Parts: sequence; C-alpha cells; structure tokens
Amino acid sequence: AMNYRHAYHAGNFADVLKHSVLFALIEALKAKDTPFALIDTHAGSGCYALDSEEAGKTGEYRDGIARLLFPDLQQTRQHGALPPLLRHWLDTILALPGNEHGLKLYPGSPLQAAQAMRATDSAQLCELHPEEVSRLRELFRHDQRVHVHHRNGYEALKALLPPKEKRGLVLIDPPYEAQEDEFRLVEAALKMALQRWPNGIYAIWYPIKLRSQVQPFLRWLQRCGARRVLQAELLVHPDDSPLRLNGSGMAILNAPWNLDQILREPLQAMARLLSQEHAATWRLDWLVQEGETAGSQAH
Ligand code: SAM
Repeated sequence: AMNYRHAYHAGNFADVLKHSVLFALIEALKAKDTPFALIDTHAGSGCYALDSEEAGKTGEYRDGIARLLFPDLQQTRQHGALPPLLRHWLDTILALPGNEHGLKLYPGSPLQAAQAMRATDSAQLCELHPEEVSRLRELFRHDQRVHVHHRNGYEALKALLPPKEKRGLVLIDPPYEAQEDEFRLVEAALKMALQRWPNGIYAIWYPIKLRSQVQPFLRWLQRCGARRVLQAELLVHPDDSPLRLNGSGMAILNAPWNLDQILREPLQAMARLLSQEHAATWRLDWLVQEGETAGSQAH
C-alpha cells in the first residue's frame, strides 16, 4: 500500500533526530575534498509546506523543529544555548528560500542534503509514489548533481552501489507501514548492499513503538559485518505502546569513529527541548565497535 505521505509528519521529533544526524554525517564527509555520493532510498517529495492542509492537520512540527527554534527563554538561560551542530542545522533550514520570514517550509532529506552538498558531490534519490516523484523532479530540475529515480529504493540499491565516487552515504528511511516486515526488508537490502559496497556509510531510520519490535533488528545489526555500528535514539514516550510513535532511532553503519562524541550534546539538547508529559530519553551506543570482530554474517 502507498498510503504513507510524509507531509503529515514533516519536522516532527523523529525528523529532528533523523535530519540532524544526516547533517552531522554530511559534515563529516565534507572533511575530505574528494567528492561523495548520497543515495536516498525513500526520498519523499523533498520539501513540505508547514501551512499545508496535511501538515496543519497534525501540526507535528510544533512539537518537533519548532521547539528548537523557539525554545522557552527561561529554559535556554538555564541550560545554555543550542550545541553548534543543531544551530548550524537550523541555520541551513532557515536559509532556505521561502523561510526568510520564519519557518514556512520544512526541507526533507533530499533538499537538506542538496543544501549541504558541494558542487562536486552527487545525490541519487529513489521514490515510489508518483506525486512525490514529480515534486522531486520539479524541485531539482536545475540541479545537475541530483538524479531522481521512480523506483523501489531497495531494488535500486543493486544498480547504484557502489557509487563511482567510492565514498558516501546511503540513507534508508522507509514508511514502516507494515511495522515488522519493513525491518526484514531493510535487513535484506543491507545484506546485499554491504556485499556490493562494504565501506559505505549506511544510516537507517527506525520507529520505536514496542521495544520488542525493534530488538531483532538491533541484534541483526550486531552481526551484519559492518566495522562500526552506532545507535542513536530519542524517545518522547516510554517504549511500551504499539499504538503510537514513542520514539525513533538512527542506526549508522561504518559510522565515523567519533560520531558518538559529535552527537552526544545534540541528543541531550533534543531530549531537553522535545520532552512531552515525561522527560524525553535518549541513547547513544556502539552496537559494533572498531576492533571487535563481528560475528559471522547475518542472514
Ligand atoms: N526520507 C524522506 C525525508 O527524510 O524527508 C522521507 C521519506 S518518507 C518517511 C518514506 C517515503 O518512501 C514515502 O514518500 C513513500 O512514498 C516512499 N516509499 C515507500 N516504499 C518505497 C520503496 N519501496 N521505494 C522507494 N520509496 C518508497
């Protein structure tokens, strides 16, 4: 089924985690001059109007990105300013044409990446929904660095890996409409992708409802064969209800060695600013650490 439309969720607490981690990864790739490739398997439409009917109906961004842009003044004084990574990330969002007079547009992963990329870097965007694809094509029609594919992102990976640049990042951000099945699709895609391109960085977003639904995936990651696997999670509710999105995580395979240090303060700040009725919690753990010989390849 193709029911999922990201417009309802754009800029929510899960996007804040997803896209600030994406930003950190692109910044890390820019530390070297050699070009990199970005592959976005589930790209969405690329940009979301926060005053659209869809976004307005749920208003999820109000408890997401808006909390970072307009933190309660007192809280800011007590706890200090936002960490530089989050400030720079917010700056790029506010620098988007259309946001001159405040936050009107929320850029999705393709547009955030295109903003952060250099002239020599490239992006491959896959999307299955025809309307989202035509919006992507329109958005990037003048950007020679960006290539839009109307394809199943999992299958496209076979053709797109390894990229000619030989360095870069694959973002896997599926809708998880059939919650547990999608984890299995991600595992199968990663297994194939790691065979074709063992050194690529892979960032996978995952929802957290019931903790038990996530555990098999995390165990699979521990044996996937990647050299380093970092898990970054942010929960705004306890992870014990299957009925709502309680939190989300990013799993980063072949992560930069110091990514945990880069993300620690931002996660602390996100938890402080995004708390709802309970204090938000976060977790930053190496599922696989350098030097450890990962177990046999998972199936
Ligand atoms: N990555 C985007 C971002 O961060 O702005 C949001 C992506 S949204 C969570 C998931 C998207 O995947 C939806 O637009 C949906 O139409 C698309 N989709 C679903 N199944 C797909 C598949 N097999 N291949 C490519 N796209 C798919």
